[in-house]
Amino acid sequence: MKKIFLLILVLLSIPTLFAQDVSEGVYVKKTNESQFNLLKSRNEFTIDHISEQGFELYGPVGTSQFLKFNNIEFEFLKKIPVTIAATYPSPEEIELELKSLTSKYSSISKMFSIGNSVKKRSLWVIKISKNVGVNDHRPEFKYIANMHGDEIVGRELMVRFIKDLLSQYGKDQQITNLIDRAQIYIMPSMNPDGAANKNRGNANSIDLNRNFPDFSTNDNKDTTLGRQPETQAVMNWQTQRNFKLSANFHGGAEVVNYPWDTSASKFPEQDYLKELSLEYAGLTPYIAMSSTFKNGITNGYAWYEVNGGMQDWSLYYKKDLQLTIELSNPKWPEYDKIDFYYQENKIALLNLIQRVL
Ligand SMILES: [Zn+2]
Repeated sequence: MKKIFLLILVLLSIPTLFAQDVSEGVYVKKTNESQFNLLKSRNEFTIDHISEQGFELYGPVGTSQFLKFNNIEFEFLKKIPVTIAATYPSPEEIELELKSLTSKYSSISKMFSIGNSVKKRSLWVIKISKNVGVNDHRPEFKYIANMHGDEIVGRELMVRFIKDLLSQYGKDQQITNLIDRAQIYIMPSMNPDGAANKNRGNANSIDLNRNFPDFSTNDNKDTTLGRQPETQAVMNWQTQRNFKLSANFHGGAEVVNYPWDTSASKFPEQDYLKELSLEYAGLTPYIAMSSTFKNGITNGYAWYEVNGGMQDWSLYYKKDLQLTIELSNPKWPEYDKIDFYYQENKIALLNLIQRVL
C-alpha cells in the first residue's frame, strides 16, 4: 500500500507547466469540507461543474487511486454510448460541410485555418461579413465552441447557425443587418482531436480551458510559450484581431457564466456583462427556467474558481468581453435533440452579435 501511495504521489507531483492533465475523469459525490479542500489545494486537479450532487474531477493517471486512498467517494465518468456517438459527424465531416457552405456563399463568407491541433487537424474559423475579404473598422465579434472535446453541442449549434446566417442573408432583416455591419467570426471546434476521441482534453490530455495566461496566478505572462498548439493558435489569432465581444460554449450544465472565473474582484464592465448574460439566458427558455441558477446566470467565481480560462484571458489581456455559455446538461445528447437546443438558442445567438453594434 505504501508503495502504491508513493507512486501516486510521484505521478501527481510531476510538474505540468501551465497545463492541467485531464487523463482521468471522475464524478465525486459527497465530500466533507476537509476532503474538498484537499482536492482544491492540489494543483494537478481540475474541478468542474459543481452542483448539489457533486462535481466532475479531472487529473493525471493515478487520480482515482488518490481518491480511494483518501476515502473520497466517486464514480468514473460514463463513456459516451457508441450508438449515440456514431450518429454525430466526425471532425472531417464537419470540415467538408463548412467548406461546402462557404464556397456556396463565398461573397459573404470565408474559411481559414488559424493553426493545427496536436494531431495536425486544421483549426477552422469561418468569417461571415459583407466584403468578407476586407478587414475594416466594422466591429468584430466571435464565437468559439468545443474547446472541451467531449462538450459537443456548441459545435453542432455553430454549424447550424453558420448555415442560417449564410442562407438568410438578404432574406432575414436582422441577419442581413448583422452581416452588413459586423465582422462575425465563428470557430465551431477549437479541439477537434478531443471531439474525435470524445475526450475533454486535447490529444495531449491537456485541458485547454485551463491553459491560458491568468492575471491572478504565477502564469500571468501573456505569452504562448509552453502552451498547447490549440491555445497558441487562438492567442495568436486574437492578437491579430480586434474583437469587442465574444462567447465560448460548453456543456455539462445550462447557464450563462460571466467573468471573472479566477477572482472575486470586480471590474468596470461587470455589470454590463451580467446584463448581457441575463439577456442571453432570458431569450433561451430552457436556460431562463433553470432550477439551479437564478435567472439562468452566474458569476464564474461565485460558482467555482477556474484558473487559466479563456474567458478571463480574453477580457483581461485583450479587452474582448467574453461570456461562457453552458448549453446542455448532457454533454453528448442524442443527436436528434440538437435541433431543439439550436432553436432555443437561435434568437439569443443573434441578439448577442447585435450587441457588438
Ligand atoms: Zn467545458
